[in-house]
Amino acid sequence: MRREPLILGGGPAGSAAAITLARGGTRPLVIERTRETGDALCGGFLSWRTLETLARLGIEAEALNRAPVTRVRIFARGRVVETALPAPAVGVSRARLDSLLLDHAVSDGAAVERGVVARAIEGGAIRTGDGALLESAALFLASGKHDVRGAARPAEARGTDPTLGLRTRRHGAAVAHCVGDAIELHLFDRGYAGVVLQEDGSANVCLAIRRSRLAEAGSTDALLAALATELPAFADRLAGDATPIEAIANVPYGWRARHGTDGCYRLGDQAAVIPSLAGEGMGIALASGVSAAQAWLAGEQGAAWQARFARQTARPVTIASAIRAMAERPPMIAPLLPLAARVGLIDAVAAATRIAQA
Ligand SMILES: Cc1cc2nc3c(=O)[nH]c(=O)nc-3n(C[C@H](O)[C@H](O)[C@H](O)COP(=O)(O)OP(=O)(O)OC[C@H]3O[C@@H](n4cnc5c(N)ncnc54)[C@H](O)[C@@H]3O)c2cc1C
Repeated sequence: MRREPLILGGGPAGSAAAITLARGGTRPLVIERTRETGDALCGGFLSWRTLETLARLGIEAEALNRAPVTRVRIFARGRVVETALPAPAVGVSRARLDSLLLDHAVSDGAAVERGVVARAIEGGAIRTGDGALLESAALFLASGKHDVRGAARPAEARGTDPTLGLRTRRHGAAVAHCVGDAIELHLFDRGYAGVVLQEDGSANVCLAIRRSRLAEAGSTDALLAALATELPAFADRLAGDATPIEAIANVPYGWRARHGTDGCYRLGDQAAVIPSLAGEGMGIALASGVSAAQAWLAGEQGAAWQARFARQTARPVTIASAIRAMAERPPMIAPLLPLAARVGLIDAVAAATRIAQA
């Protein structure tokens, strides 16, 4: 059995744990199934809080995107409200963020083995694709969206009308001009789209949508065409050269790991899945990685840490889930938006959906 910690997954949660463990004097091993860092389907919005954590991990905001995001703009049923964010944020591609994080983990002393797939968790050890059993004194489960047999999140977490994530990128001066320095949310029946400019100036257009709404449209192309007809401002964001639409299914928004087992620390999306309109999933991923690594270094067992972290995620996840339930019903939320912006409610929600960072 390895005495050094083992990290399953080299996304934001796994890398944050690896950096913290390496800085704490250990030599963690990260196993990552991809051979090269891809560009995970994600809205790519990093909040001011997440940027503070990244700076502590050695990554400054300017290394991600030199152009800050300073405002939030919300569209619903022909209404638009806009307000300043509590502090500057950024939009970044996951290719950029994930590569920088993993590079930092390696330069701080972590070992990374790529192209290794975990097929199952067996009694706290990892069974890899080639049949080997990797055992360790501590397992950090950071496989994100992907469940691993033996430690999968419950199927009920997907809900009766499961959520899909869709993403396309739009390149061009017109769309860049429309979006500018804002993070935008376009609300529609049973879903929403987030739009933000990334480091190459392209607009990342990312949707979270109920399966029933996609089924009604018939296909992802037909869905975007229908939304463009229904929402003229959104149609402007779909102008320009397009990348193909990517999709992920069954995103268990609102799920949290309330209990754990000793010897195992569930991180990131394996610990809590906050609705993406909060733009805090990566904040939770990084916070969980840092906090669990610190806990292990200090001798706190997995079960105790998991329960503690679940308490930390309760407020942001609960508030974001309530806001999402309203956002998916534009006739209900649209009339409230101007007042919400005037009395500072949008700011208050933006602040209340952040995770406390370790
Ligand atoms: C539609 C949508 C929009 C979003 N927008 C935002 C946003 O704007 N801002 C924000 O902060 N968050 C956003 N999120 C949430 C964010 O993407 C996640 O919370 C975040 O990626 C979680 O990080 P992670 O490290 O836990 O997992 P991941 O980023 O999923 O990383 C997991 C890693 O583990 C590897 N892996 C998986 N399975 C195995 C295996 N069996 N063996 C070996 N390796 C494995 C994967 O290849 C991957 O590298 C969004 C999510 C969705 C669905």
